[in-house]
Amino acid sequence: MLVYHPNVATALVTGGAGFLGSHLCDFLVGNGYRVLCVDNLDTGSLANIDHIRGEDFRFLNHDLTSHVEIDERLDVVFHLASPASPIDYQRLPLQTLKVGSYGTHNTLGLAKNKRARFLLASTSEIYGDPLMHPQSESYWGNVNPIGPRGVYDEAKRYAEAMTMAYHRQQGLDTCIARIFNTYGPRMRPHDGRAIPTFLRQALASKPLTVFGDGSQTRSFCYVDDLVRGLYLLAESGEHLPVNLGSPVEMSLLELAQTVIRVGGSSSEIVFEALPVDDPQVRQPDITRARQILGWQPEVSLEDGLRRTIAAYSHSAVDSASV
Ligand code: NAD
Repeated sequence: MLVYHPNVATALVTGGAGFLGSHLCDFLVGNGYRVLCVDNLDTGSLANIDHIRGEDFRFLNHDLTSHVEIDERLDVVFHLASPASPIDYQRLPLQTLKVGSYGTHNTLGLAKNKRARFLLASTSEIYGDPLMHPQSESYWGNVNPIGPRGVYDEAKRYAEAMTMAYHRQQGLDTCIARIFNTYGPRMRPHDGRAIPTFLRQALASKPLTVFGDGSQTRSFCYVDDLVRGLYLLAESGEHLPVNLGSPVEMSLLELAQTVIRVGGSSSEIVFEALPVDDPQVRQPDITRARQILGWQPEVSLEDGLRRTIAAYSHSAVDSASV
């Protein structure tokens, strides 16, 4: 049991042992919350939360696709549980669909029973390979439901629909964060996402592998900025989706060159085949986040990369398996 304090808010973080979830747990504990972290460790790790000690933090190993009972007061529920990198959700396609559907249903039901505010961690992937650029929340997307990314994209679209149904029909206090590419310490070096892959390769003086000709664009938000945005959204009274991400767009080739420069690496760049349904462009319109939350990213890409490199160097990235 967490120690109960009548004036201290209690947050549930699903997926709290993952990359974003563990940083969110740090933030919440640091800001005086009691935090219950629920995770089945499919893609997360106890090493991400080992450092969080004390009576205001508790970990529960549980798969959210099965029924969950929590014997605690809950004020806010952050629902982050889901495989998130293409390598993970293509390895775990059915689990990804199940946690987006049953897992979201179970977590929404829990929030309803506790009368807690509910935040869904959705994704820019619900826009698919976008025909609108930059992407604003009013865009409905261009998703291939039967492609290899469909399990993740459609699970998140379904989770958004279910969240709005709980809000409209059941009166649950909900919000939806559409998260764009985020990076920082604790990303697994082999999770296949661009920044940890490039960093791992650059730090080991191996060639950086860029897909296609590298002209496809992304925008990268440092994790501390993103977590602050999640918190502000949960604290707001907003119910409709809000994009959270960096509005600074760059090509994957530019990103590789920046990683080499900031990392002081002598690596070269090589090109590999583009994955199926890889979006050509990705850049959030964050007008709503600015207006509703007063939020925008503050950490530059160079600064965020330096902080991530410092953390990777401490945890001795396994360069032998590059
Ligand atoms: P992650 O893989 O590091 O974390 C996901 C966590 O969820 C892991 O700890 C995993 O073990 C847990 N989990 C998965 N299935 C579960 C289940 N059935 N029951 C309990 N726990 C389960 O990924 P992340 O990058 O931290 O992403 C967290 C959330 O943010 C995801 O919902 C993802 O879709 C969303 N998101 C992340 C990004 C990003 O750039 N990191 C971008 C868009 C959206």
